[in-house]
Amino acid sequence: MSNLNEYVCEDCGSLLVHSNSLTLDSMKDVHKQLPVIKRKKAMAAESAKAVATPPKPASATAKPSVSPNSLPSPASTSISPPPAPIASVAGAGGSNANTTISLTGNGTNYSKVDGPIDPGFKSKRQQAGTFQGIKVWGPLDAPGQLGIWGTEVCVDFDICVADGACIEACPVNVYEWLDTPGHPASEKKPFMIREKDCIFCMACENVCPPQAIKIFQKGQ
Ligand code: SF4
Repeated sequence: MSNLNEYVCEDCGSLLVHSNSLTLDSMKDVHKQLPVIKRKKAMAAESAKAVATPPKPASATAKPSVSPNSLPSPASTSISPPPAPIASVAGAGGSNANTTISLTGNGTNYSKVDGPIDPGFKSKRQQAGTFQGIKVWGPLDAPGQLGIWGTEVCVDFDICVADGACIEACPVNVYEWLDTPGHPASEKKPFMIREKDCIFCMACENVCPPQAIKIFQKGQ
C-alpha cells in the first residue's frame, strides 16, 4: 500500500508527489510561485471576466455612419437592365419556334445590291420564312443573300452596310444588331425585333445612307 501524498496543479496539470505531507505542502507553495503558473492564473482570470461581460450589440452603441438624407433613393439603387444583346443567329429548327430560316449555310449566291430598297417588293417577292417572328422575303441564299426583312419596318439586308444610323435614330428602340457572318455588305444588320413598337416617325428611313429601309403604315 502506497503512503505517497499527491498534488495535481489545477493550473498546469503538474503532479507533485511526496510521502511527507509537510514537504508536499512546501512543494505546492514553491510551485504556485513559479512565473509560468502565475501567468496562467492571470490569463484564466481575464478569460472568465470576458465571458461574464459580453460586448453590447453594435446597433446599441454605434450611430449610423450615414444620415437619412444621404441614403440612396430606391431609384438610384435599382439595377440597370443589361444592354440589349446581339440577337443570336438561330437557324431553322432552333430553339425559337418563330424561326423557320437559317442565317448560316453554303450559299455562294453573293449579291452586292445597291439602294434604294424596292418599295414594291411585297408584290414581287415571296415570303421565305420568319426569324423570331419577323417576316423574311426571298430570295434567300445564306449567308450571302439574305433578302428583305420586316412587314412594316422593312430593311433590305442585301443593301444594308451596318451604318447603324437607324438604330441611333429610332426613338422607340425597334432595332437591335443581328450577326450575319459571311454577308458581303456587312456582317451585322439592324434587326427589327420590336417592329410592333414602331410609331412610323420615318427617322430610320430618312437617315439610312444606302436607303435600305422602307417603312409601311399598318396594312400597307
Ligand atoms: S420609323 Fe421611326 S419608330 Fe419606326 S423603326 Fe424607324 S426610327 Fe423606329
